Amino acid sequence: MNVKNNLEKINNDIKNICQKSGRNFEDITLIAVTKYVGDERVKEAQEAGVHDFAENRAVNYIERKEKFLEATWHLIGSLQTRKVRDAINKVDYFHALDRESLAVEIEKRAEHVINCFVQVNTSGEESKHGLIPEAVLEFVKGLEKYPKIRVVGLMTMAPFLEDEATLRSCFRKLRELRDEIKGLCLEYAPCKFLSMGMSNDYEIAIEEGATHIRIGTALVGNELK
Ligand SMILES: *Cc1c(COP(=O)(O)O)cnc(C)c1O
Repeated sequence: MNVKNNLEKINNDIKNICQKSGRNFEDITLIAVTKYVGDERVKEAQEAGVHDFAENRAVNYIERKEKFLEATWHLIGSLQTRKVRDAINKVDYFHALDRESLAVEIEKRAEHVINCFVQVNTSGEESKHGLIPEAVLEFVKGLEKYPKIRVVGLMTMAPFLEDEATLRSCFRKLRELRDEIKGLCLEYAPCKFLSMGMSNDYEIAIEEGATHIRIGTALVGNELK
């Protein structure tokens, strides 16, 4: 397990896929998901040149963000309404806006504009958070009421260990939705970004247009296993 080597491999992969699909390497943000590892690994990733990090639980997020101040931090897990007050003003990017009640609470507690990704359940799996694709457009339109929320993009989690065609269709669905929202030219919802792709499926996600890939195991490892 060597974070620097993993990073080199992943960056090479990203470069190759970008070249093949006519995209720019600079347009992909690699986010290191550190929920399975200790502080040493976070440090190692930082020293290897990773700038963006993510945690999926609010308490862990706050702790890490305070320890590693120079990094950009992404909160990628669903957020309970009662935890919004403690976490939201420390969030650089929030990837899991998935309901109106959460938007209301963010509006109430935020002291500045919060960069949010709207989470979409593209796979239809019941265990997954996120809005059904059919509900996303209306949801985003309704967010105009909340000036503290800026919709920078959409986020999805593809089903685990699915065949390539299924993964690809999940990612494609998210991209089509993103294009639709972007086309509305809403000031509060530029919706330029696509947060999709993890250790097992980031290559397909980039081919389908991912701008933010969230990688844990393949980059910093998993110490819980
Ligand atoms: C844990 C997690 C990841 C990273 O998963 P890996 O398979 O370890 O790369 C990405 N996104 C979310 C939302 C996660 O919770």
